[in-house]
Amino acid sequence: MPERAVHGMDFNAALDALDHASLRRRRRVVSGHQGARLTVDGQQLLAFASNDYLGLAADPRIAEATAHAARRYGVGAGASHLISGHHEAHERLEHELARFTGLPAALLFSSGYMANTGIVPALVGRGDAVFSDALNHACLIDGARLSRATVHVYPHADTDALEAALAASRAPRKLVLSDAVFSMDGHLAPVARLAALCERHDALLLLDDAHGFGVLGPHGEGTLAHLGVRSPRILYLGTLGKAAGVAGAFVAGEAPAMAWLAQRARTYVFTTASPPLLAAAVSESLRIIAAEPWRRERLRNHARRLRDCAARLPWRLLPSDSAVQALLIGRADDTMTAMEALWSRGLWVPGIRPPTVPADTSRLRISLSAAHAPEDIEALCTALTAVAAERMAA
Ligand SMILES: *Cc1c(COP(=O)(O)O)cnc(C)c1O
Repeated sequence: MPERAVHGMDFNAALDALDHASLRRRRRVVSGHQGARLTVDGQQLLAFASNDYLGLAADPRIAEATAHAARRYGVGAGASHLISGHHEAHERLEHELARFTGLPAALLFSSGYMANTGIVPALVGRGDAVFSDALNHACLIDGARLSRATVHVYPHADTDALEAALAASRAPRKLVLSDAVFSMDGHLAPVARLAALCERHDALLLLDDAHGFGVLGPHGEGTLAHLGVRSPRILYLGTLGKAAGVAGAFVAGEAPAMAWLAQRARTYVFTTASPPLLAAAVSESLRIIAAEPWRRERLRNHARRLRDCAARLPWRLLPSDSAVQALLIGRADDTMTAMEALWSRGLWVPGIRPPTVPADTSRLRISLSAAHAPEDIEALCTALTAVAAERMAA
C-alpha cells in the first residue's frame, strides 16, 4: 500500500519527527510480575521504573484477596455505581479510605485520570476560575480544560503569584489545583500555604496525592498527614495503582462535596463501576500499608543512600522527600544516552522528556521501592558513577 497522508495528517512523517527530536516513546513488553527485577523481552533488568513504591503490586496476600473476591463476586460490576454496579465491596472500601485518611467521606473512581477529569468540571464551569500549578499532572490540566472555567496557570509553587491571581479574580467559584508530590520531580507542594490562601479567598483546593498516598505520613495516609495540614476546603485525591499496588483512585473530603461529585462527576456517573474484586484487593492493600511501616522506612533509607552517592555525580538530584528521585540531565538526547548506557548494564531507569517535563529539563526518573534491597541501590550508584565517567571521557 502506498504511504500517504490520512485526513490531512501524515502519521509516518509525524512519527519520524518525534524520532529525530529524540521524543519517540517505546512500549517495553514486561512478562511475569512487578518487583525490583523485571523481565523485559526475555532479559532481566534491575528496574527503577515503576510507581510500585511499597512493593505491593505483586504481593501474594493481595493476589489471594483478589482471587477470593473473584470466586465470591465474579468479575464484572455489571453497571455504573448509580444504576446497579455499586457493590458492598466498593461501599466498604470507601468507608475504609475515609478512616484511613482521617477525612469525613471518600468516593471511588476507576483511575486517577478519570477522577481529575471528572471532579474539576463538577466543581467549576463557564465563568468560574481555575488556578493551576505550572507543573501539574496532565489529568488536572485536562480536567481544567473540560470544565470551561477560565484557567490561570501560576509559576510552579509560586504562592505569591497564586495569591495575586486569586485576589484579582471576580469569579463566583474558584478552584486551586495542585499535585501534592510533583510526579516528575518528587518534591512537595506548599500545601499549608495553598490551603490558607483558599481559606482567605474562598476557594477550594483539589490536591492530587498520586505519589504521596501510601508513601508519606506516619501510617501512609499521605501528604496531608505528613505535613499536618487539615482543611474543609481540601479535596484530597489519592490513587490506588501506585503505592497501593492495585488500580483506581479516590477523592476524600467533606461528605456533601463527595455526595455532589457522585451526582455530577461525569467520569463517575457515565462509566461502569470497577470490578468489586479490585475494591477487595485495595482493602487488603490498605491493611498492609498500615501494618507494615518498615516499607516506608526502607524507602527513606534507599533515598538517603541515593542522595549520598548522587552528591558525587555531575548531575543534580532534585530535592525530594518521596520515592520519586529525579536526576536532572538537561537535553533529551543526553538523557536517552544515559538511559541506554544504564540499560546496557542491566538497569532500567526511565528517561523523561518533553512534553512530560519542560524543555531542557529532561531527566532520569529514579523510582525507589520497598521491593528494592539495599544492594540494589548500591548497584544503581555504581552504574550511575560508571555512566558519568564514560560521559566525561567521551
Ligand atoms: C499517575 C497520576 C495520575 C493518574 O492516576 P491513574 O490512576 O494512573 O490514572 C494522576 N495524577 C498524578 C499526579 C499522577 O502521577
